[in-house]
Amino acid sequence: MRATVTPVVKDLVLVGGGHAHVSVLRRFGMKPMPGLRLTLIARDVHTPYSGMLPGYVAGLYSHDDCHIDLGPLARFAGARLYHAEVEGLDLTNRRVLVRGRPPVAFDLLSINAGSRPRTLDVPGAAEHALAVKPIDAFLENWEALIARVVASTGPFRVCVVGGGAGGVELALSTQYRLRQVLGSRGDDPNRVRYTLLTRGPEILPTHNPGVRARFVRVLAERGIDLRTDHTVVEVTTTEVRSVEKDSVAADAVLWVTDAAAPAWAEAAGLAVDANGFIRVDDCLQSVSEPGVFAAGDNAALPDPRPKSGVFAVRQGPVLADNLRRAATGQRLRPYRAQRHFLGLISTGDRYAVASRGNWSAEGAWLWRWKDWIDRRFMAKFNELPAMAGGEAPELAAGLADGAAIRELSTLAMRCGGCGAKVGSTVLSRVIQRLPIGARRADVLIGLDAPDDAAMLAVPPGKALVQSVDYFRAFLDDTYTFGRIAANHALGDLFAMGAEPQSALAIATVPYGRERVVEESLYELLAGALATLEPTGAVLAGGHSSEGAELAFGLAVNGLVDPDATWRKGGLQPGDALVLTKPIGTGTLFAADMRRRAKGRWVDTAIASMVLSSQSAAECLRRHGATACTDVTGFGLLGHLVEMTRASGVDATLRIEAVPLLDGAAETVALGILSSLQPQNLRLRRAVRDLEAAAQHPRYPLLFDPQTAGGLLAGVPAERAAACIAELRSLGYAAAEIIGHVEPRSEAEAPIAIDVRA
Ligand SMILES: Cc1cc2nc3c(=O)[nH]c(=O)nc-3n(C[C@H](O)[C@H](O)[C@H](O)COP(=O)(O)OP(=O)(O)OC[C@H]3O[C@@H](n4cnc5c(N)ncnc54)[C@H](O)[C@@H]3O)c2cc1C
Repeated sequence: MRATVTPVVKDLVLVGGGHAHVSVLRRFGMKPMPGLRLTLIARDVHTPYSGMLPGYVAGLYSHDDCHIDLGPLARFAGARLYHAEVEGLDLTNRRVLVRGRPPVAFDLLSINAGSRPRTLDVPGAAEHALAVKPIDAFLENWEALIARVVASTGPFRVCVVGGGAGGVELALSTQYRLRQVLGSRGDDPNRVRYTLLTRGPEILPTHNPGVRARFVRVLAERGIDLRTDHTVVEVTTTEVRSVEKDSVAADAVLWVTDAAAPAWAEAAGLAVDANGFIRVDDCLQSVSEPGVFAAGDNAALPDPRPKSGVFAVRQGPVLADNLRRAATGQRLRPYRAQRHFLGLISTGDRYAVASRGNWSAEGAWLWRWKDWIDRRFMAKFNELPAMAGGEAPELAAGLADGAAIRELSTLAMRCGGCGAKVGSTVLSRVIQRLPIGARRADVLIGLDAPDDAAMLAVPPGKALVQSVDYFRAFLDDTYTFGRIAANHALGDLFAMGAEPQSALAIATVPYGRERVVEESLYELLAGALATLEPTGAVLAGGHSSEGAELAFGLAVNGLVDPDATWRKGGLQPGDALVLTKPIGTGTLFAADMRRRAKGRWVDTAIASMVLSSQSAAECLRRHGATACTDVTGFGLLGHLVEMTRASGVDATLRIEAVPLLDGAAETVALGILSSLQPQNLRLRRAVRDLEAAAQHPRYPLLFDPQTAGGLLAGVPAERAAACIAELRSLGYAAAEIIGHVEPRSEAEAPIAIDVRA
């Protein structure tokens, strides 16, 4: 999370991490525009590079070779990364509608969300064919298809629908891979039979006759049955039916037809062409909506070109420049698409055909050249230069005008103390917008009738349990940060065996224009609500102020039967130690700040941090847990030490059994640790035979501070296996028995670490 040194004046929202936007991000990272806040909303955190996909499918590249990791790239650009799917636009209020989370406000919007093959208009295609886009879904299904082919016996018929470059490349690369897989298993590679269907009289209609002739020959050499003039009208589980042609029997159908536009752009009222693609002028700006830009496949340019990644890539620099210009009210510059471009189309077997204008060539050297070009392109995004540091940046010239300048001049004189509070109109607008659903009879005065303070009733026979947590944002996604902060705070209640009742929020949002402050506060509180309400807790009030950086926390109240409270001190000798979630958030987010964590690792960590411990606590209760705590800032070992000391017992921790978040072992091996780690390490005195334990590669993770970590509990040994099985069925997939409790011994240190596998 970058501290705000310049107030946010305008919001630029990028929808989709396509080929043009990755270049926009890189350029803004190289030359930031202070005062312009970037937000990237992307459905996939690892965005595939189209040029290398056939090679990946053919088994020539790894996943990371051909995917751009948007996590480090967004951080490099200073952009907030919202991993989510856009499902609409509210152009009147200038907000992007996002599935499962609050809308995102924009001043400038850029859409590079690609396209998908047209399946909806052919009956059965959506159900029975494997569409090549979205690519991630295709790649998952592709692995499943390989498994199906391996498990089959006799001929396996694959039908590829679509004779453009994508269809031809995919037919050749998938066939190559399937043959390789079967051959390596001693199976007959030739039992995979391929048919390629295309609607027109020839394949590769946008390429020259020489290229077409070469591919007709290659397809024939590879035994792929090419059938032209086949307009597919229906797909079933066993065949592909075409108009006035014989049906083609198929055990699997790959669908690589014309590109279709995302439906939401047209539904929002943006001007689109006959196929639903966003109509832009030659500066890539929507012809109907100033301040909205589009590039790549989803854009319809005045001088159209084929839907190809090459053009999306070329549009990137012009788009970046025009977004800067639009932010400062400067004249935009036109994008001039090249008339001829070099296409290198692979045949799947480390061989390629080149196409440019009327020229063509082929050879293994062309594949090597293509490989070199593609890897060099990928390196630009996956090996980013060091970030510029130093002086606090000035507001970019020309970014603020009129009302913005008046607002900003008051920002410079903002007071501390109560003067730092978020204004009452902003606050009441936020509260009105919040989707507050839950009410509780024991919350006598809450946000629905705000007063000087909330008023809570404690039902007879119950005790009130309270806890408070507050911390600086460690990720740029404000809504998700709100969810995690609330979940972190609630963890203390679950660890006490309490039922959440209410919460008071305390928020610091970065200085900025009123609208920006409102959106930040709204996203934080909407995130907190999304976590609180399913647990039965209501948001009863809070305090908000402006400050240099985003920070958030909650005071949470829970109700508990005083006789049924869990304490740290209840562990019994013989208990199994059960941990409900994997550890590693400290090192992973330290690595994320340094752009060393993969986007998918951060994603998995976030999924773990938003997972509520409520069901886990209920499950532990059913299995007779004797003591419980939530694993947070002191790390797993620190919290275990607290429990053993309070219980007067010793414990053995099986280090190999401790569940780890994806990537945590890798980031620790790189020496990347949380800044709190050194303080936590002081607890190593509580470990016996320290030298042996300290050699273990997982040892540093025992001291890794956790955010919204899991519950650590003692469970009677005879119930532990059933408890773990139930926890896993409830969604705590990594729940594990990580050790056991022993009677207090003579040894000074209470913890033994078992390093055996
Ligand atoms: C098999 C195959 C091979 C190809 N080979 C080549 C080739 O060699 N060279 C070439 O130039 N072209 C090739 N193409 C074409 C190429 O894939 C596309 O033209 C190119 O990917 C379009 O780029 P784009 O930037 O517009 O969008 P994309 O690359 O599709 O990126 C769109 C991004 O937006 C995200 N997104 C989509 N919807 C949403 C949403 N609602 N909310 C948030 N995010 C969203 C996606 O996750 C994705 O990251 C090939 C196509 C296929 C099918």
